[in-house]
Amino acid sequence: MTGVDIRSRSLWLDQVGDLTPRPPLVGDATADIVIVGGGFTGLWTALHLADRRPDARIVVLERHVVGFGAAGRNGGWCGAGLAGSPARYAKRVGWGRTLAGARLVESAVDEIGRVIAAEDIAADFVKGGTLVVATTEPQWARLQGSHAAAVKSGVAESGAKLLSADEVRPMVRTPDIAGGLYTPHCARFHPAKLVRGLADAGERRGVVIHEQSSVTSIEPGLVRTSQGTVRADTVLRATEAWTGQLRSTGASYLPLTSMMIATEPLPTSVWDELGWPHGLTVRDRRHLFFYAQRTADDRIAIGGRGAPYRLKDPLAEFGDRDRPVWQRLEETLRAHFPQVGDAAITHRWGGVLAVPRDWSMSVTWDPATRMGAAGGYSGHGVVAAYAAGRGLADLATGQRSPYSLAPWVGHRSRRWEPEPLRYLAATAIVRILNGADRHEDATGRTANRVRVLAPVLPPS
Ligand SMILES: Cc1cc2nc3c(=O)[nH]c(=O)nc-3n(C[C@H](O)[C@H](O)[C@H](O)COP(=O)(O)OP(=O)(O)OC[C@H]3O[C@@H](n4cnc5c(N)ncnc54)[C@H](O)[C@@H]3O)c2cc1C
Repeated sequence: MTGVDIRSRSLWLDQVGDLTPRPPLVGDATADIVIVGGGFTGLWTALHLADRRPDARIVVLERHVVGFGAAGRNGGWCGAGLAGSPARYAKRVGWGRTLAGARLVESAVDEIGRVIAAEDIAADFVKGGTLVVATTEPQWARLQGSHAAAVKSGVAESGAKLLSADEVRPMVRTPDIAGGLYTPHCARFHPAKLVRGLADAGERRGVVIHEQSSVTSIEPGLVRTSQGTVRADTVLRATEAWTGQLRSTGASYLPLTSMMIATEPLPTSVWDELGWPHGLTVRDRRHLFFYAQRTADDRIAIGGRGAPYRLKDPLAEFGDRDRPVWQRLEETLRAHFPQVGDAAITHRWGGVLAVPRDWSMSVTWDPATRMGAAGGYSGHGVVAAYAAGRGLADLATGQRSPYSLAPWVGHRSRRWEPEPLRYLAATAIVRILNGADRHEDATGRTANRVRVLAPVLPPS
């Protein structure tokens, strides 16, 4: 591909082997199934479809290269937890199916691990759970409150338990610990190695992947790119944050940015001081929380939200103007993990994720047109994309399964307000949440101003 330096897009993309793009689609082709988007959703869908219908001609179209989107840039947390509001799902499908969905994403973490092993994908997948550390009393109150609510409704992850500061300390030694929550249902992994490994696994099954193939329109039975067309009985869309560019889709997502940085590999002495084992993912409980992993090559890769929403081009690539956000992340890193000392930051990057108005993912399938779509994971898309892809494959092949009956299947969010209201709302949200975090850090008291945002915030 010309003009885009793929390796500079993340630590992960910088670390994978050959990134020479696969040939683009040129001319008119026919297939049984065409999938738009070469991220986790598109590739899991392709893989499941290839397993169900080994004879089917399956084509995946990717604008840049596989893993160019959030799949090749994320935090590398393969964690359970619903990518949406349990209450909203329950309102439409009832609590029984909603709770079944919560159990489904737990088991999906292990399913992903099973496929990685079976396909021999070297994706550094180690399941060590997640530790949420509350670093102030307000965070601790929030953590206990949300856990109690999750237990009450039944969506709490099995085996999740609250920990005192003394119980947290041996797992990771960060200076300020008010308490924590541990859940076993999360694995650390290398995003780019996984997404590119899935593409290879698809190709071994006969899936045809065209990179450098930007889809310009989608309609029943026909997908157009700038250089060709694919006619196919079944058309599936997996374009997440870029969905709004395809006018015909009807979905409305807020493209929200998440930013990351990574240190150089840290010496064993630092890890001994930190006490942080491989496989354990760590985050805090601020409103604009950080999330971190210990990489297989012993770096800390840490990310967070809070980058400003860009009215003119919310999907623009990241650069110099994002330096203040990376600087804040670096301050967070050094404050919470002072053991890293003056270790160099070797990589800085960002990615865009799709947020529906109600922060709840969906899978849609229309048997009349044989068109389907999945997305809107609001930043929790690793396991969700697996579940969505498996569900789409089941729906498109007419199989009833826990995945085709999951609570997000058929869910539709209302649309975001038009610009500039969406911009104003997104900017105000970041400002208020950031201000609330600063207030809580400085005073140790809960910032109540966040309550006014409840109708537009993600489910806690
Ligand atoms: C910085 C960051 C950190 C994150 N951390 C985590 C995490 O730790 N755990 C977690 O669960 N989730 C995380 N997420 C979210 C997660 O990465 C996404 O939800 C997930 O990758 C979604 O997968 P996807 O395949 O649906 O979308 P994407 O991975 O974004 O893939 C969409 C693909 O479609 C392609 N495309 C778009 N439009 C077109 C078109 N018109 N024609 C052809 N191709 C097109 C894009 O180029 C892209 O490759 C994070 C996201 C970011 C940005």
